[in-house]
Amino acid sequence: MHGFASNVLSCEERERLEEELFEARTRGRNLSRLRHLTYRERVALDAREQAAQARLASHEVEHGCRR
Ligand SMILES: [Zn+2]
Repeated sequence: MHGFASNVLSCEERERLEEELFEARTRGRNLSRLRHLTYRERVALDAREQAAQARLASHEVEHGCRR
């Protein structure tokens, strides 16, 4: 099981999820700078970002590695 102090200090899974969230945000920002996004594209990008955020949040709760 997880939850040991050593895991809390450096959690690779959380780092991966944070990176995923950062990438989702960056991608959406870059795309919208390049051209006008359609409503569908905007919604898909938002959903992607929210899903990444939700995965990170639930991991922190389950694993107890919140900063
Ligand atoms: Zn963790």
